[in-house]
Amino acid sequence: MVQKLEQLYEGKAKRVYRTDSPDLYLVEFKDDATAFNGAKKGTIRNKGALNNQISAVFFRLLEKRGVPTHFVELAGEREMLVKALEILKVEVVVRNIAAGSLAKRLGLPEGTALPFPVLEFYYKSDELGDPMINGYHIRALGLASPEQMAKIEETALKVNGILLEYLAGKDIDLVDFKLEFGTHKGGLVLGDEISPDTCRFWDRTTREKLDKDRFRRDLGNVEGAYEEMFRRLTGKKFE
Ligand code: UDP
Repeated sequence: MVQKLEQLYEGKAKRVYRTDSPDLYLVEFKDDATAFNGAKKGTIRNKGALNNQISAVFFRLLEKRGVPTHFVELAGEREMLVKALEILKVEVVVRNIAAGSLAKRLGLPEGTALPFPVLEFYYKSDELGDPMINGYHIRALGLASPEQMAKIEETALKVNGILLEYLAGKDIDLVDFKLEFGTHKGGLVLGDEISPDTCRFWDRTTREKLDKDRFRRDLGNVEGAYEEMFRRLTGKKFE
């Protein structure tokens, strides 16, 4: 059993702790929810535990399919043990259906199917509000090398293919999602979380939103949506 040591970092939805192993961190998922770059704040009951366990399902699936992730094991209801990463300051968004900022920016009605997956990059900077950037900006700012970016694009599209297929089997459309990558012992590894906070999930039949848009847009039954995603993925009711 690794020992939890001091807190290294606290973000909007998670805390990261050092452990007695230099290669491993503990991530604790919080119930706090924010949107619009921190302007909207709230809590979602049991979100920490739900996102921890939902992320574990996705990370295990991806590992099984050959995608290196930071996930090591669950370490409690709301905690997971992960490989210590140096996070790259690039957020990668993959989109299959127009929604959110893309629908707005390009004037596409929300729900328009895209003919192929669309990749976007954002500069991970709270002060700047995570502006959208392209490959030139990434190189100019030295956020990642061209080799890392090639690998990131390839991995992001591979993750999309795996998740699309898996979620289709659960009657869920994967609208879009955000990934973060880091390096561990020189290798590129998928980090952060994969959860209703970072993905848009729509029920395939009813198109009901089962993700953080329920919080962002005050649609109600936020907890119920996260619990429903847990039930679809695990086949179990969240207790
Ligand atoms: N996303 C995220 N963190 C962010 C911004 C976006 O996890 O800081 C996710 C979001 O949940 C959605 C996808 O990335 O699944 C695309 O988000 P979009 O650009 O539409 O942004 P938003 O609607 O949050 O402004």
